Formats: sequence, C-alpha cells, structure tokens
Amino acid sequence: MRPSDVLVPKDKANAISPLRCPICDGSLEQVMIRDLGGITADINWQLHAGHCPEHGWFQCEVIATPPREIFPVDRPFGSTRKVVIDGVDLFAFATVWNDVPLAERLKKIDPFDRTYWKVRHQVTSRS
Ligand SMILES: [Zn+2]
Repeated sequence: MRPSDVLVPKDKANAISPLRCPICDGSLEQVMIRDLGGITADINWQLHAGHCPEHGWFQCEVIATPPREIFPVDRPFGSTRKVVIDGVDLFAFATVWNDVPLAERLKKIDPFDRTYWKVRHQVTSRS
C-alpha cells in the first residue's frame, strides 16, 4: 500500500500517533493522519491509521477525546475488517478510555496521552 493510493491532500503521511497495534502492542508503520475538519475544544478531529506488519491496518478517531475503539480495517481510512482471536470474531478493540471515571474524563486531558489509547484486554500475539 503506497500512501499515494489513499491520501487526500490534507492527509499527513509518516505521522506520529499514539496508536499501536491493538493485538501485539507493536508500533505501527506507515502512520497516516486524516484531518476530519471538525474542531472540539481546540482539537482538530482526526482519523489515525497505521499498519502492523503482522496484523494489518488499524485506525481510530480522535474527536477531542482519546479513541473509544480501535478498528481493524482493510486499508487506511477503509472498511472495517474482521479479525479472529481465540476463535472469536472481533470488529473493534475497546480502549481503556471507556473505563476512565467520569470525573477524570471531564478534566482537561490530553487526547493524545497514550495511557488512554491502550486496549482493554491486551491479547498477546501467537506465532
Ligand atoms: Zn500487531
């Protein structure tokens, strides 16, 4: 997949993102960020996508807060795909942001703080 296949002019290639592979927690390559145009609390809405050499493409939305879910996709900014882990079909990985108490959520938090981007149940990769 070449960035030129999917990027629109405002997209950033080789971007920096807290996004990691939700399956192996490995760093992603070919990280891309798409500006979604909206703004909440001074933060641009963004779509982050990146590729794990072992597990494929993943993406998530950042809309003023850390992402609630990380989605496996067929290509950056593409359609959700199914991944099978331990015989279970998964279409999304919930992040620990869902578990953050409301009082803490209402504080001014950094949506790019990687602590909140971790997936709830870390699944280790098997080979
Ligand atoms: Zn991976």
